[in-house]
Amino acid sequence: MQGKFKLIFSEHDAQESVTYVLVKKFQIEPNILRAEMDDTGGLMVLNMIGTEENLRDAIKYLEDQNITVVKLSKHIQRDEERCFDCGSCVSVCLSRAFSIDPVTWEVNLNYEKCVACGSCLTACPAHAITLIL
Ligand code: SF4
Ligand code: SF4
Repeated sequence: MQGKFKLIFSEHDAQESVTYVLVKKFQIEPNILRAEMDDTGGLMVLNMIGTEENLRDAIKYLEDQNITVVKLSKHIQRDEERCFDCGSCVSVCLSRAFSIDPVTWEVNLNYEKCVACGSCLTACPAHAITLIL
């Protein structure tokens, strides 16, 4: 199983050991997608891969550390009114979250593939994409 989570830290110190514990104690494969921390706390967006049981135990461990854990269903939002299917986002997305419909030429977006790199935000001339963090 895998899932994307936003971790909200109240103290900066907690960040140092969390990913280590996830790997060593819960056999979780963590991938940090984004981290914004300072001395007062911050947030981290993390993709975690592991068994269902290990993921559940890992989340409980994080919450026991006073870290707020929010499961993310998607990282970005596309304003369909602004998007005019120019295709600029397709080539910059290394995760292949965007695809062009061969019949309609519309640009489709698979939110599951997005890893929140942010590349499509700057590539979009219509400013149709925003990051949800
Ligand atoms: S944020 Fe990155 S991974 Fe997500 S859709 Fe945009 S380019 Fe692709
Ligand atoms: S770059 Fe922007 S306007 Fe162009 S297809 Fe992608 S989301 Fe739509």
